[in-house]
Amino acid sequence: MSNYDNDNIFAKIIRGEIPCDKVYSDDDIFAFKDISAAAPVHVLVIPKGQYVSFDDFVVSAGEEKVASFFTKVREIAASLGVDKTGYRLITNHGEDAHQTVPHFHVHILGGKKLGGLLQSDNLER
Ligand code: AMP
Repeated sequence: MSNYDNDNIFAKIIRGEIPCDKVYSDDDIFAFKDISAAAPVHVLVIPKGQYVSFDDFVVSAGEEKVASFFTKVREIAASLGVDKTGYRLITNHGEDAHQTVPHFHVHILGGKKLGGLLQSDNLER
């Protein structure tokens, strides 16, 4: 992995150095509630491996890990009940996408009607 910062906040969460509201954990994957929830269901799913972003994950991890990661994302969404009502996945890669934590993560959002994809009040001009 390129330029991975071992002291980013999600690396610390994986190591148990700072607390989180855990939703799921296994050998490869960790999921926890977003500290600043944007919807009634807002969970972050991360691989335990050191990947900076989605882009880095897909380039570096290999197809088997990528496939099993997204299979698990779906299972976690189902465990939260939002498979019945609908949910949105977001993953931000890099500056233009406003990625703020440099450890690959997928947001699972749901539990209410989420509205349009890019709402104008979320866009920086
Ligand atoms: P992104 O903008 O895609 O990089 O999203 C990073 C997300 O991490 C934001 O939604 C934050 O609210 C969330 N976040 C930052 N610090 C923590 C933390 N300590 N525990 C849980 N979520 C966090």
